Amino acid sequence: MSDRYKSMIQNPIGQFLVKNLGLPNPPELRRYQGGALVDGPVLIGGEGLLTGALPGLLKASGIDATSVRADGRRYQGLVLDASGIDSAAGTVAIQEFFTPVLRSLANNAKVVVIGLLPERTDSIGAAIAQRGLEGFVRSLAKEIGANGSTANLVYVTPESKDAIGSTLGFLLSPKSAFVDGQVVRLGTTDLVEADSPADPAKPLTGKVALVTGASRGLGAAMARTLHRDGATIIGLDVPPLAEDLEHLMAELGGSSIICDITEQDAPEKIASSLGDGVDFVVHNAGITRDKRLKNMKSENWAKVVDISVGAPERITAHLLDHKLIRPGGRVIGISSIAGIAGNNGQTNYGTAKAGVIGFVQALAPKTAEAGITVNAIAPGFIETDMVKTMPLGIREAGRRLSSLSQGGQPVDVAEAIAWYCHPGSSAISGNVVRVCGQGFLGA
Ligand code: NAD
Repeated sequence: MSDRYKSMIQNPIGQFLVKNLGLPNPPELRRYQGGALVDGPVLIGGEGLLTGALPGLLKASGIDATSVRADGRRYQGLVLDASGIDSAAGTVAIQEFFTPVLRSLANNAKVVVIGLLPERTDSIGAAIAQRGLEGFVRSLAKEIGANGSTANLVYVTPESKDAIGSTLGFLLSPKSAFVDGQVVRLGTTDLVEADSPADPAKPLTGKVALVTGASRGLGAAMARTLHRDGATIIGLDVPPLAEDLEHLMAELGGSSIICDITEQDAPEKIASSLGDGVDFVVHNAGITRDKRLKNMKSENWAKVVDISVGAPERITAHLLDHKLIRPGGRVIGISSIAGIAGNNGQTNYGTAKAGVIGFVQALAPKTAEAGITVNAIAPGFIETDMVKTMPLGIREAGRRLSSLSQGGQPVDVAEAIAWYCHPGSSAISGNVVRVCGQGFLGA
């Protein structure tokens, strides 16, 4: 759905009112349109696990980086390897790297800080400094959001550090336009090897993706984006949306499964439509049935929880038991900021979406041996049919109360799914990344 406020303030009168009344002024966010991942200079600095390796890792994603500052340059990306900082006093190196260049940030610039997983540090001083990076990144993101810029943190371990390439490519590019103030953890399971795609422009070539709820909204965007990256799509949706789904799958050269995922025989039905298996399973289907708890009906509680997490749990178990998710595979759940921060009138949905986090974090270590990662995306306010049912006041608050003062687009969530699916992302498992423009709810 469209953001009328954002369109209204684009003219000179709108901009005059915004300035004089102190109204929110959402920046224009640049999305990926193909071609190079980053189209401006990237400055790198710091000392730590990636010292010396960063330029090569970035080059592999087609990103040229320099550690030499030049006057008058506007940086599209800043990357600080802060993983070597091991004391509270040492954190001043963060300030010394960023302060002199922050006035030289281009619009829609991307800041990435690299740290060492705090639980892998070997002194209290290092734990202070490394955990401190989270507070730094989340605060900087709030300072630079007004021009569409974002800041994110990537924790690595000595074993997983070389698998950071796909994550840097994603976080430094416009593919991550609505990912802000987030923390990505690499190497929390034994899976640490990253593969390089034969064709970087189509990294998912030869892979098969099952996307549930694929006929519209976020699911349709996921199907399109995974297809753009080379995957063959199997879309799934309920019988009333069969025509929409089949239309989209015909456009993408994919196939359809028409079924309600909560039906008892859904796991078998899905398994029998997958041939010799799939690489990616994206459990996107979801519904809301909002009511305050005092007015909640049992059937609306049960339905919301079963669609979001009960059915995904049963379907995943069945596909894993029958070895229908291939090595190198990905299982992805869709959570929500309502599952992180809670939401008035959404006790059922909040339970379901927090349950998705429990699901991916419990499953991730179990599938590591089979080479399968399990992660979740928690969307914030994204412009789809689902948010049309919100009362206007809540809808406007959802849009404006974020560092980027606007809702996201379905493609923003889809790009994050494609990043999880990238062959280079095998060291990311058990993660929950919000695609929310650093929404202030539960941030
Ligand atoms: P949507 O209503 O536009 O699409 C949901 C899709 O899931 C529909 O195609 C629907 O038919 C399908 N579906 C529902 N129940 C199903 C079932 N039993 N079996 C098979 N398919 C079923 O919603 P959306 O906004 O695209 O949301 C997609 C996912 O993202 C959901 O899980 C939702 O909870 C989550 N989410 C959305 C937002 C947002 O702002 N739009 C925010 C947070 C989380």
